Amino acid sequence: MAEQATTHAIMLIGTDARVRWWSPGAERIFGIPSSDMRGQDISKTFIAEDIDRGVPDHEMAVAKASGAAEDDRWMARADGSRFWAGGVLIALRDERGDLLGFGKILRDRTEVREQLDAYRNRLEAAAATDRRKDVFLSTLSHELRNPLAPLSNAAQIIRMTGKTAPELETPLKIIERQIASLQRLVDDLLDVSRIGSGKIELRKEKVALDEVVHSAVETARPAVDGRRHRLEVLLPPTSIIIEADPARLRQVFVNLINNAAKYTPEGGNIWINGTVEGDEVVVHVRDTGVGIPHDVLPRIFELFTQVESSRSQSQGGMGIGLNLVKNLVTLHGGSVQVRSDGENKGSRFTVRLPVEARL
Ligand code: ADP
Repeated sequence: MAEQATTHAIMLIGTDARVRWWSPGAERIFGIPSSDMRGQDISKTFIAEDIDRGVPDHEMAVAKASGAAEDDRWMARADGSRFWAGGVLIALRDERGDLLGFGKILRDRTEVREQLDAYRNRLEAAAATDRRKDVFLSTLSHELRNPLAPLSNAAQIIRMTGKTAPELETPLKIIERQIASLQRLVDDLLDVSRIGSGKIELRKEKVALDEVVHSAVETARPAVDGRRHRLEVLLPPTSIIIEADPARLRQVFVNLINNAAKYTPEGGNIWINGTVEGDEVVVHVRDTGVGIPHDVLPRIFELFTQVESSRSQSQGGMGIGLNLVKNLVTLHGGSVQVRSDGENKGSRFTVRLPVEARL
């Protein structure tokens, strides 16, 4: 076996570190004939840096002490080139336990090493892109927010003068609505980038679930009424108190209700219903809308996921709302799930939060 294995280099080394036997596989892998290697110090097969660091002696000391030394490292061929070797050095002893020498088996693993390096490079490049994306998101959201504040102020001033000519009423309404929708997008972007860099802090307090849900419904009301949906809210009669950041939790439900309104054809139904299950409060936001295809469901909470960009973009979105929902709910120690039976079968989002107490 030792003579015929050409994929492995097999060698016997004396206690003086000199090669006693050198297999044909070793001849092939190192490019050194057995006649040249016999009697030579095994350190000849190590690269210069390892010799300087005392690796050959160390390897023998480890094998001597523990029976075997297993290592992957660069090694040198006769022509000075290197290859990545995976191998083991075994201490050989007689029946009395006296050290006879060492056996070494190794194989050329350069390809594996190169593949690993390529994966590592790809990972590093992806991580760098991810960092650049975070910086970009943060810069973009700040840059977009800056012109929005004066725009919104200007619209308010026009509104407050109360002297808008009747024919300007519609354009002014459009300006106000578009500014509000841009503001929501920019706020979401800003939050996503803050969560990405761990900069969001919850201001938790004891809050009543029904108050949060009702105030979310109020905020999302224009989107719901604008598409003539029927919205029904069903919550338990007793107040459920949870430990939460009311503004952030409202944002979660606003996003879910807005989505239900956006992705449901006009005149649909939206139900919000809440219950307590054990020590969890569970809120479902369900609609009779276009639904979410099976294959997209597992990624629906990932940043920038959109079912079909044309469909979503026509509704004005960037695929960040659900990512925000998930991150905010997770920050609250809760979870969010989605269910949809497919195209046009509606969707159901379920938010679970730890309950504090029931009053
Ligand atoms: P956006 O709505 O801005 O695109 P979201 O993160 O809120 O981003 O939603 C991601 C995608 O999930 C949407 O583009 C849409 O395709 C799908 N989606 C979200 N909510 C619903 C829903 N209630 N019904 C159907 N599809 C939905």
